[in-house]
Amino acid sequence: MPGQTFSIDIVPDLPESICRLGDLADNLWFSWHRPPPHLFLMLDRELWWRVGRNPRLFLRYVDQSVLNTAAEDRTFLSAYRSVLAEFDAYHDNSHDGRTPFRLPDDELIAYFCAEFGFHDSVPIYSGGLGILAGDHCKTASDLALPFVAVGLLYRQGYFRQRIDAQGNQVAEYTTVASHEIPVFPVTGPDGQDLVIDCPLQQRQVHLKVWKAQVGRVQVILLDGDIDANAEEDRTITRVLYGGDQTMRIRQEIILGIGGVRALRALNLAPSVWHINEGHAAFMLAERVRELVSAAVPFDAAIEAVAAATVFTTHTPVSAGHDAFDPAMVLDYLSQVIPALGVTPERFIALGHDGGEDRRFNMTRLAVAAARGINGVSRLHGRVSSQILASAWPQVPPQENPVGFVTNGVHVPTFLRSEWTGLLSEHLGPSWAYQLMDRDLTDSIMAIPPGRFWYVKQQIKGETLRALRQRLEYQHLHNRLSSAHIRRMLRYLDPESPNALVIGFARRFAAYKRATLLFTDLDWLRAIVDHDERPVIFVFAGKAHPADEPGQRLMQEVHRIANLPEFFDKVLLVEGYNMELGGLLTSGVDVWLNTPVYPLEASGTSGMKAAINGTVNLSVLDGWWAEGYDGSNGWAIPPATQASSDYERDHHDATTLYEILQDEVIPMYYRRDRKLGFSPEWVER
Ligand SMILES: *Cc1c(COP(=O)(O)O)cnc(C)c1O
Repeated sequence: MPGQTFSIDIVPDLPESICRLGDLADNLWFSWHRPPPHLFLMLDRELWWRVGRNPRLFLRYVDQSVLNTAAEDRTFLSAYRSVLAEFDAYHDNSHDGRTPFRLPDDELIAYFCAEFGFHDSVPIYSGGLGILAGDHCKTASDLALPFVAVGLLYRQGYFRQRIDAQGNQVAEYTTVASHEIPVFPVTGPDGQDLVIDCPLQQRQVHLKVWKAQVGRVQVILLDGDIDANAEEDRTITRVLYGGDQTMRIRQEIILGIGGVRALRALNLAPSVWHINEGHAAFMLAERVRELVSAAVPFDAAIEAVAAATVFTTHTPVSAGHDAFDPAMVLDYLSQVIPALGVTPERFIALGHDGGEDRRFNMTRLAVAAARGINGVSRLHGRVSSQILASAWPQVPPQENPVGFVTNGVHVPTFLRSEWTGLLSEHLGPSWAYQLMDRDLTDSIMAIPPGRFWYVKQQIKGETLRALRQRLEYQHLHNRLSSAHIRRMLRYLDPESPNALVIGFARRFAAYKRATLLFTDLDWLRAIVDHDERPVIFVFAGKAHPADEPGQRLMQEVHRIANLPEFFDKVLLVEGYNMELGGLLTSGVDVWLNTPVYPLEASGTSGMKAAINGTVNLSVLDGWWAEGYDGSNGWAIPPATQASSDYERDHHDATTLYEILQDEVIPMYYRRDRKLGFSPEWVER
């Protein structure tokens, strides 16, 4: 027969007795509760890892006979029923006493962000901003807050990273199909998939509206990749932070203006609107337009919109804030601005930061119509009030309205289950609801130190095993010999995880100074060159594909990791994502952070480390300037008086080497003969 090929998709049927496995796969609740992944592991351990811990993919590829067997297996059924009981109890909306307060039913918080990091299987995040947004959704769900999130459904998302034999980053984009991830089309009143229109230049872009369920919280995701759009418009929501300025402004209009329209189409009337980073600030234009079209004068409309708007800024350097050529803004908003009832200049002035270049700055737009404005740590709040000082020329920066809310991390997502077990055993199951109580700290301090050491060693062993697997795969792929790889990994011993392991995993952005550790290689060599007390550094991180300096930093780490004196002491692991980040923050001994002060707005990975008993060694920047109390880790006081960048880096590196050689390494290896560990270390 002449060749036309058809593909048919055979999807296993879920037997009646276990049919709600589908519900578990469809709700991101699985990303912070261990029991659902455990069920999938019980069914087919190998497949679970092969599909990247993605429940929807798992249920497409699992063998029918495995499901049929499980449907009759008493052990499996009993586990299945208890997971569903927990799932249903969580979603039961009656007040369970564990949520500390409730907002009145007519309140609704709308939370807009360009990226969300819930789980690696949904690749619509790039880094800390997205993980924070994901954590906020999960926490809002735990607290039963009336909350809806709005973002974009990127089909190619953010890239997966490989590092080749020369230390170059290779960015791999894969297209995710909607049936592979837990997102579902929203249907309109007519029963059809809901599609809304967003004005862009002189045309309308059509956006399909999807939703993801994060526990009790809905996340609305907009998708322009549909037939109704011209090819050019189909690409707008394809890649997170991809493309040039025109792509960026299109994405931000879709997010801000399309986002408001999607909520309206769903009949939602938020009482609080949160702009998480400037990307989403065009929502203000749409909300002002709505009021103006209802005959409210422009100035009163701005006031009314501002009264219901909260803005969080995340970037401590003004050059990092999105800014567009005003002509571009006028062009792309050519349907919106005329409907605001003011001259185009009035609107453009809202985004003007007073600088010479007269660019339209998204942070300034957000500040122009938000009553709550905050940075993400105390220090970052201060820095932001200076960056934004010209918005309130009549008051000194320290008195302007820019405040701070220090970031946090969603503990159930990032605390390893081994710790959950230890805490429940010693404190009872209710500890998880007392995270804000000082008493909890005292109770934790009363747990015998040996138990901490034992649990930490267990987690570290698992981490080293996983790291070995990843590094073996990475280096075999890059054609290193097995013998060389064995030598390289000789200190990563999962059975006896006794070598001091120091982790550094972050975006390779210049200000994070990944290479500060390599400022003086002779000194570093002297520090690590001890057979009895080895010190291993594990690096991971992505550089944005367009960030060449960032990629060069990574190549420099790679170069040093290949020097004969460091090849088994400095390891660079590819594929930084939530899973690898989670492994490292929980499974190394020390979490290193060496940003240029005061450019680390918060640095939440350090919090993930801290809750998992990993000791922070960090420049006193971001959250650590508040978290460090003199005895719970180590601090590098920043060289704020240095006369040059060179002198500053040299000063910070010297402090780092001194702390490592005089404090960290001796304390870690000062093992008590009887106990087998260093009591001072556990105390720290
Ligand atoms: C927590 C987290 C971040 C943020 O870490 P920083 O401390 O800001 O570097 C970035 N990426 C991933 C995958 C994370 O889990």
